[in-house]
Amino acid sequence: MDKQDYIDSIYNNIIGPDDTFEFGCKQCGNCCRTRADPIMLTGYDLFNIAKATNLTLIEAMVKYTECISGADSRLPVVILTERLDGSCKLLRKGKCMIQQDKPLVCRLYPLGRLFDGKQYSYFTQDACKGEGQKIKLKDWLNEFNILDYDEASILWGKLVYGAALYMQKLLKENSEKVEAFQKSCLYAFYCSHDLDLSIEENLKRSISYLQEKYEGFKIE
Ligand code: SF4
Ligand code: SF4
Repeated sequence: MDKQDYIDSIYNNIIGPDDTFEFGCKQCGNCCRTRADPIMLTGYDLFNIAKATNLTLIEAMVKYTECISGADSRLPVVILTERLDGSCKLLRKGKCMIQQDKPLVCRLYPLGRLFDGKQYSYFTQDACKGEGQKIKLKDWLNEFNILDYDEASILWGKLVYGAALYMQKLLKENSEKVEAFQKSCLYAFYCSHDLDLSIEENLKRSISYLQEKYEGFKIE
């Protein structure tokens, strides 16, 4: 599927709070062993993994993740690493070690979501349907505490969206600041968080950090 087809498929499959989708997890764990796409982490996913595993952020990063550069955005993206057999390193004896704190992508699966600079939309995608029961989107979000993360989600979305716009500007200007900005984003997105503060406070600090360091970096 090319990029435009992929974008079209997202917009064609957006669902509202009262819409239903078909799914019924059989808890076979296959999606934790053979997921086709890497599991991308938000900053608060890494924060939750560190807390749930009693590690520091850096220890959790080294043990469970790797960092890649977004193909289009050129921003740092931290993903979960896999074992050689393709299974997630957080899968032990067929169960997620951090079930209550698992990353948003895992809690949301089989749905995906999209941030437009102001709010999130949720969409169905080509993924496991399990036993295929009808589920309402709003019930699904409640069941997996996705609304608990709303303020953090919005702050995260704004932070990354603002950084993506700023990076596009630097790339267009062929600026020498690209590499420095990538490093600053890695720090602000993932590495700077204080585990004793709330994730919302941390994300506000990350936004201020980039605003103070880079003139013209804006958050709407
Ligand atoms: S989502 Fe699908 S693959 Fe994953 S555990 Fe449930 S039934 Fe198995
Ligand atoms: S973090 Fe947990 S739910 Fe997500 S892929 Fe790994 S084992 Fe599965």
